[in-house]
Amino acid sequence: MAETKRDVPRVIPEHFNPPVASEVVEVDGHPYLQTNEGMFTFYKRTKGEFSAYFLGLRDEAKIYGIKCPQCGTVRVPPFALMCPDCDFAQMESVEMPDRGVMNSTPPITYFAHSLFQSWVPFGRGRVVLDGADTALPIHVYTTQGVLTPFIFEKGTPVKVVFRDERQGKPTDIFAVPMAELAPEQQAKSPLLESDLDFSEPPEPVLGEATDEDRAAFARAVEMLKELSAGVDASPRARHNLAGWRRLIEVKTAAGGLVLKIDDGSLEVAEGRRTEPADFVMLCAEPQLLVDWMTFKEALTNAIITGRLWISINREFTTIFKLDRLPRSVHRDMQARG
Ligand SMILES: [Zn+2]
Repeated sequence: MAETKRDVPRVIPEHFNPPVASEVVEVDGHPYLQTNEGMFTFYKRTKGEFSAYFLGLRDEAKIYGIKCPQCGTVRVPPFALMCPDCDFAQMESVEMPDRGVMNSTPPITYFAHSLFQSWVPFGRGRVVLDGADTALPIHVYTTQGVLTPFIFEKGTPVKVVFRDERQGKPTDIFAVPMAELAPEQQAKSPLLESDLDFSEPPEPVLGEATDEDRAAFARAVEMLKELSAGVDASPRARHNLAGWRRLIEVKTAAGGLVLKIDDGSLEVAEGRRTEPADFVMLCAEPQLLVDWMTFKEALTNAIITGRLWISINREFTTIFKLDRLPRSVHRDMQARG
């Protein structure tokens, strides 16, 4: 019997493979039967003359560039083997240091197409490694919670980090700000993803609550409880949270609460958690929660503008789900009349 290897990551993600199903769709009042079918094409490709670079990433956790013996230009990644400036002189492979500076402010991707969905939010930047004359395209991340536009800019010193599981792809490496690393992490080469701790970043400090904050917090708790009941009554909202389970600790200057997403439901409790939370949502102004539920501000946008901080970068996906709830509840209420 053939081994199915279900536990091995797939080239095409599992969710791209639709269940066997059929349904009736109505067009101009006529019923039509529609069934799910699959049409996939697989192919393999070699990295050709760039194989040495990608094998260096995968097997040695090293970055190789290429250096011209005549003009001394160092190109990384080694996108040519002959120097175009020196009558196509044969260049030599050189090992590059794993540190450098960003050559521009990296744009950040928050909403990616499904192939990159598991990476968001990520920055796409270019780092000039020490001694290089060209810039290496690289993803950038922070160890300090969610990635925001305020962390990297042109000239920010960075360290290249290697993923523990590497395939020989550009995404085998990413960069983090040098300033976030302890001296021993800065000195270690290669620095692996597992050498970093992304689980409990230092939290931004909450200021003193004003009277407005206290009033807004009370209103937010009230509205969240209404939202929770609204989710129970809304097929759209239950669908938004289907199959998802998270315990979220919400902290504001005027008090905290706990949100529990449990496969289609949203529970709200005041005070602090008793079991370990999956992540922390921190907003100094509780008014943000009110603004979210009254359609004035999206939580995702509040992260991008720095009004909301979350402790775990990849939980942006959960924030995206939360953002849909007020509108889903509202639409289903309207549909009920
Ligand atoms: Zn040259």
